[in-house]
Amino acid sequence: MADANTQSGERPRLPMQGVPQPHREEVLNLPRVHISSHPVMKHKMTALRDKNTQPPDFYRLVKEIGALLAYEATSTLALEKTSIVTPMMPMTGERLAGGIGVTPILRAGLGLAEGFREVIPDVQVWHLGLRRDEHTLEAMEYYNQLPHKVDLQVCYAVDPMLATGGSAIDAINVLKHRNIPRLSYVCIIAAPYGLLKLSQTHPDIDIFVATLDESLNDVGYILPGLGDAGDRQFGTF
Ligand code: URA
Repeated sequence: MADANTQSGERPRLPMQGVPQPHREEVLNLPRVHISSHPVMKHKMTALRDKNTQPPDFYRLVKEIGALLAYEATSTLALEKTSIVTPMMPMTGERLAGGIGVTPILRAGLGLAEGFREVIPDVQVWHLGLRRDEHTLEAMEYYNQLPHKVDLQVCYAVDPMLATGGSAIDAINVLKHRNIPRLSYVCIIAAPYGLLKLSQTHPDIDIFVATLDESLNDVGYILPGLGDAGDRQFGTF
């Protein structure tokens, strides 16, 4: 039987070859999509993309960008009143109303999740393993460590690169089975193609992006991008 990407007698097609892609301008104002405009983010992004940045610095930058994204993505979380006593007097303070979860999509999402933990040390971390099939670019689940009992106000699925959108869409599908009141997706670089796909498939979630790039190449890598976010974090070239 012919491969999904071949017409009989033709050479196999590359997964994104000839696939129409939206322009950046077409996805800039999608509802519930938040693209960072923070100068510190832009500064760190330049260092992150540079091919001379080595894995230890790359991982540190992913964590720092994760912390900045966490700060932006948590800006509308619900609070509840709580009574405390300062060394001076009693007062009513506020604390986050309900738990917060972060789901790193393995393995590239690990550094981003660490950034979230620096901002909110008591986040629950739920690991989810999704791998892209090299030929079809479809996401396959190979590891799922999500708890059965859930008491969260929000869960953030985190993965540095939103390329074709396949694993992002699948991750949100998995989380939607957990009855969490709010879900968000957080990435460092989005391609217009994947951003549009995710936003159209899951219009009920917020999507936080550090920066929006130009396009995908024929094999689904983001341009100008930064290469393979997993390899660059963990030095597996
Ligand atoms: N995953 C990566 O690590 N980089 C890309 O450019 C696309 C997907």
